[in-house]
Amino acid sequence: MQKLSERTSHFTDSVIRRMTRISMKYGAVNLSQGFPDFDPPRELLERLSEVALTGPHQYSITCGAQNFREALAEKQSRLMGRPIDANSEIVVTCGSTEAMMAAMMTVANPGDKVIVFSPFYENYGADTILSGAEPIYVPLYPPGFHFDAAELEYAFKQGPKALILCNPSNPSGKVFTHDELSVIADLAKKYDSYVITDEVYEHIVYAPHKHIYIASLPDMFERTISCSSLSKTYSITGWRLGYIIAPAEIAQVAKKVHDFLTVGAAAPLQEAAVAGLRFPEAYYDALLREYTEKRGLFLKGLDDLGIRHTTPEGAYYVMLDISEYGYESDLDFCERLAERVGVGAVPGSSFFRENVNHLIRFHFAKRNETLLEALNRLNGMKEKMSKKHSV
Ligand code: GLN
Repeated sequence: MQKLSERTSHFTDSVIRRMTRISMKYGAVNLSQGFPDFDPPRELLERLSEVALTGPHQYSITCGAQNFREALAEKQSRLMGRPIDANSEIVVTCGSTEAMMAAMMTVANPGDKVIVFSPFYENYGADTILSGAEPIYVPLYPPGFHFDAAELEYAFKQGPKALILCNPSNPSGKVFTHDELSVIADLAKKYDSYVITDEVYEHIVYAPHKHIYIASLPDMFERTISCSSLSKTYSITGWRLGYIIAPAEIAQVAKKVHDFLTVGAAAPLQEAAVAGLRFPEAYYDALLREYTEKRGLFLKGLDDLGIRHTTPEGAYYVMLDISEYGYESDLDFCERLAERVGVGAVPGSSFFRENVNHLIRFHFAKRNETLLEALNRLNGMKEKMSKKHSV
């Protein structure tokens, strides 16, 4: 038999999704793959059940249903501080996962370089490989996960086609400041690079931090491909509704890529989600209040157990330092954690370019009872995870 494709041999399956399978195997509280265990807003569910009977059930226009794009344009115009054109500047995709892949394929030729900050959300590695691009990794230094401007400029000097910006950042919880975004924007302009964003946590930013769309900085809209989704904002990760916002010339190309990748996002789900896109400000305030409470509850619980962790400025992830346990492999640690302690985590190494295996990632997008149960189980972590513990 002939060999399968070269490009797929360069990456493994998703470690995040693998940890969900491992969590299920051991009946662990799954704090690995980031998705809520609570229901989406009632209005969306009611709308979904109506749509089941009224339709649409056939394809929407490939770049997204007209009313969905209009509602999205209205919401994002407000947030991004400029009018977004529903017809020419939006492509609705199957989650931001497809949005990012379509964005990469829109800008990159095989062999082109793309800047990726490390740590990074694991999909970006696969996105670059599948689109034939080569990543240039630039470290974000803990605890604040700041980049070194000189290192970033050095990366830009290698002529990258684009920089990938996850803001708020998964897994670090970093929210890029106006100054940091300005440095990135100035370099992108100086070296004529695109910026591809992943802003799926745009509504989950803890005070006093604020989300700033890099596309809203001076002269940045024309070189930014903003990707995001409804998954986290409306707790509908399974609906797979994402989108690209970009200038018409770029969106037009992204529409072609998207058309041949997936034809379109699920029409009935787009129809039902329009209700969410039209929610008033109060909805987003309440969402943030809930996540702020969860963050407080979970981080305090970890503090009470004497577990060292990062403090996220945005998104819903926290990283724990497991150096004291002396495991050589963080993947091994996470498997044992699911088995012995009953809590699922993601090994930090899957997010870092550098050789890092002393960190693991938890998420706290769970009901408070679930978080308390996880904390309760983590109470036994020190003893159960020590190497002396019999296997
Ligand atoms: N973004 C979520 C995470 O980092 C879910 C990833 C996924 O499986 N699509 O866990």
